[in-house]
Amino acid sequence: MGIYVGYEPARSCTGSPSSGARALMAWFLGAYGGQGGRNLGIYNCRGIPGTKSTSLHGEGRAADLGVPVGAGWAQVLADKLVANSAELGIQCVIYNRRIWSGSYPHAGWRPYNGTHPHTDHLHVEHSWHSARTLTAERVQQVLGGGGQPGPGPTPGARPTIRRGSKGAAVSEAQRILNAWYPSLSRLAVDGDFGPATEARVKYMQQRAGLAVDGIVGPNTWRRLLGG
Ligand SMILES: [Zn+2]
Repeated sequence: MGIYVGYEPARSCTGSPSSGARALMAWFLGAYGGQGGRNLGIYNCRGIPGTKSTSLHGEGRAADLGVPVGAGWAQVLADKLVANSAELGIQCVIYNRRIWSGSYPHAGWRPYNGTHPHTDHLHVEHSWHSARTLTAERVQQVLGGGGQPGPGPTPGARPTIRRGSKGAAVSEAQRILNAWYPSLSRLAVDGDFGPATEARVKYMQQRAGLAVDGIVGPNTWRRLLGG
C-alpha cells in the first residue's frame, strides 16, 4: 500500500476513454455489480461545473463508479483506493462531499465543496501512466475481489485478535487501519490491542457492513487484507 504523490491536470479533450479507466470500471462492475455498483461514465468532453477547467473526463482519465447512496462498502472502497493509490496510479478520489488528491497526498480526506456532492458515485482520476497501463488484472491483484467471494487475498494463518491481544498480527492490523483512514488520528503501531485500536476496528466494521464486535476474526481479516 502507498499514497500517490502528484497531480496531472487535464488540458484538452482527447476523444475517448483511457484503457486504465476502462480497466478500473471493468474490475468495479465485476466486484460490485451485484451490490448495486454501476457505470456512470468515463469519457465526457466538458468542463468542471462552476470552473473554467477541463474535467479529467475530457481526457478519459476519470471514471465515475456508481454506488447506492449510503452504501457502507462504497466508503470502504474509497478508502482502499486512496490507501493503494500509488500502486494503482490514482491521483484523486471524490466521494460523499470529500476529496483526496495527490496534490495534498498526506492530508487525507478533505471537504469537497464542488457543486455535485458525489453521494451516488466515486469520481476516480488516473495519472497518465495509469491511464495508459493499468489493467483489470492489476486492480484485482492490488484490491482483491471487492465485496464478492472469490479470488483475492485470504486471511491465511492470522490469529483472531481482540482487546488485550499483543504481537505482530496486532501491529499489522494497526498499520492497515492507519492506511485505510489517513484522515483519522494515527494509531500507535505498537502491537498492543488497546481501546483505541478496538474503537478503530469497530469503526471499520461498521463501515464495511460487518458484525461490529471490535474483534478481528476471519471475516474482518479478509476485509482488511483486501478480499
Ligand atoms: Zn466524475
